[in-house]
Amino acid sequence: MERQTMLAAIKERMPEKRYIHTIGVMETAIRLAQQYDENPKKAEIAAIFHDIAKYADVTWMKQVVTEQQLDARLLDWDAEILHGPVGAWIVETEFQINDEAILNAIRYHTTGRANMTTFEKIIYVADMIEPNRKFLGVEELRTLADISLEDAFRACVTHTLSFLVSSQQAIYPVSIECYNSLIREE
Ligand code: GDP
Ligand code: FE
Ligand code: FE
Ligand code: FE
Repeated sequence: MERQTMLAAIKERMPEKRYIHTIGVMETAIRLAQQYDENPKKAEIAAIFHDIAKYADVTWMKQVVTEQQLDARLLDWDAEILHGPVGAWIVETEFQINDEAILNAIRYHTTGRANMTTFEKIIYVADMIEPNRKFLGVEELRTLADISLEDAFRACVTHTLSFLVSSQQAIYPVSIECYNSLIREE
């Protein structure tokens, strides 16, 4: 699929700000893919589509979870957690993208999961460090990503989990599995 065709398809499903974020993720993911020997074209596709379901109707997304027999625990969560797994389903069924690496990168871009592939880590990190992100500590994460994808991924997950705990938000079990797999692997 042509980049412009994909961009046009997602643009109409999100506000301008999210579209600009998506372009940032796309450019960052392509760069990281080149640096860490993953397929840049696949990185482009995963990045363009990663937030396609971010503004989808929550009731509809929960219907998809039930009908497609996705993880039933998703039914207890809102768009922030639903948009990855449901986004992957939209990309597969509506855009006929069947590449499991791309679909998994979209599916797990918010929570991560245990034992992520390099490609999944690239999309997770790119989502977090793209040039339009402005949280405290993002500059350190960007510097780390130039040096080591593994270290950057670890720092990104730690940052996300710390943020959720400090703001007293519930943590989706798959996010915890992701964190635990990082702690146990070294
Ligand atoms: P975005 O879609 O580009 O804004 O980024 P993400 O898809 O990575 O994350 C969406 C939101 O979900 C962010 O605010 C994350 O902090 C949040 N998030 C990630 N993991 C969890 C979790 O386990 N629980 C909750 N409550 N929120 C999470
Ligand atoms: Fe997202
Ligand atoms: Fe993310
Ligand atoms: Fe995003």
